[in-house]
Amino acid sequence: MKELVQRLFSGTEYLSHKLEGDELVLELESVQEESSCPYCNLSSDKVHSRYQRKFSDLPIKGYPTTVILHCRKFFCRNQECKHQTFTESFDFIEPLESKTERLIFEILRISENNSSRKASAILADMGIKTSRATICNLKNKKIS
Ligand SMILES: [Zn+2]
Repeated sequence: MKELVQRLFSGTEYLSHKLEGDELVLELESVQEESSCPYCNLSSDKVHSRYQRKFSDLPIKGYPTTVILHCRKFFCRNQECKHQTFTESFDFIEPLESKTERLIFEILRISENNSSRKASAILADMGIKTSRATICNLKNKKIS
């Protein structure tokens, strides 16, 4: 599992995993030494606070997968920046998003040539629980 995590979630390290019902819950910790402020691009290693993110990823071995990621907020070191703090960023998920990039990609791929009702059913068979409303929202976001 350690190796898999390092491949799938760069910048993080494996802490634990457990099965909750039919769901795999992976707990990870950020090990990035620094992160760039999304507003001014200056990188910082000055930790402000710690928090947890929870998001969904592609199923692992058929199990719907939820990730709990222990990550941090940093102080921006740029005195001219309007933002004093920012949350660290990862290349596998957008800020504030509840799904990884590859999960969104897969949902959009399946829903491209299917109605949202059909897509939702196909995705459910694959271990990806997503509502028709979510599919529509993702499609609209992609267009805009
Ligand atoms: Zn900044």
